[in-house]
Amino acid sequence: PIVVVGSVNMDLVGHCPAFPAPGETVLGSGFATVPGGKGSNQAIAAARAGGRVAFVGAVGEDAFAAPLRAALSGAGVDVSALRTVPGASGVALITVDGHGENTIVVLPGANSAVTLDGAGRELVGAAGLVVLQLEIPIEVVTAAATAAAAAGIPVLLNASPARELPEELARAVTVAVVNEGEARTLGDAVLSGIPHVVTTLGADGARYRGPDGRAVDVPSTPVTVVDTTGAGDAFTGALAVGWAEGGDPAAAVRRACAAGALATTVAGASTSAPTREAIDALLA
Ligand code: ADP
Repeated sequence: PIVVVGSVNMDLVGHCPAFPAPGETVLGSGFATVPGGKGSNQAIAAARAGGRVAFVGAVGEDAFAAPLRAALSGAGVDVSALRTVPGASGVALITVDGHGENTIVVLPGANSAVTLDGAGRELVGAAGLVVLQLEIPIEVVTAAATAAAAAGIPVLLNASPARELPEELARAVTVAVVNEGEARTLGDAVLSGIPHVVTTLGADGARYRGPDGRAVDVPSTPVTVVDTTGAGDAFTGALAVGWAEGGDPAAAVRRACAAGALATTVAGASTSAPTREAIDALLA
């Protein structure tokens, strides 16, 4: 299967006319709890895009654990290596003001306690592709990447949120997925050492650069944008499926662009990732 080792959060979203100043209280409206976290979102996106997917991560011992687990398993993701650890689940406190600006406080909670042992390590060793992001401890990301690489298993890293990579991690990556800001943070020297690099360009689609150094531009499909939240995760999930199925990397990037574009046409994050049928229909 595609094995995603990463984060899972409950996003707590509320709207207010204007953000409170420090010490101030304002009345808001429209509270929602939405499963999120890049790891979970990408696992769900890959499953919706038609992949066989397992998730390695952790939730806490709180009221969010069950719905977070259910969001993954409901999408068909194997959660046998989703551990329950003492304390709180990962949470993101999100406020959106009347202009659509947001503030976000991420509380990693159980994501800080993700380890690579037992069932998780076994899954990684048996994976067709390992998918990683940077929202769990970097030592765990590095351990998963090096274990996979040592076993000849390809490693797809979505280098988000942006940070520098330990050399050992960078050396284990087969394909990096970055937006333009993340590409700048990693820098050309690091990116040039990675065999395959996919740079997402928002409405302009994506660029793929392979081991031969040639760049291929893949345009996005023009769509009516409703909400770009989750587009990057839908892109990465669909790319993982295309990659795991083998074949032409540029074709996998085209599928990913279609998935990213479709995700912008619906509100929400993980719930906005398109199915394989919807991706096929857009590309037909
Ligand atoms: P991130 O949100 O991670 O910065 P991007 O904004 O580059 O990532 O978006 C990821 C992918 O989603 C793009 O490569 C593209 O396929 C799709 N996408 C994003 N915004 C749009 C848009 N306005 N129109 C069409 N596709 C989009």
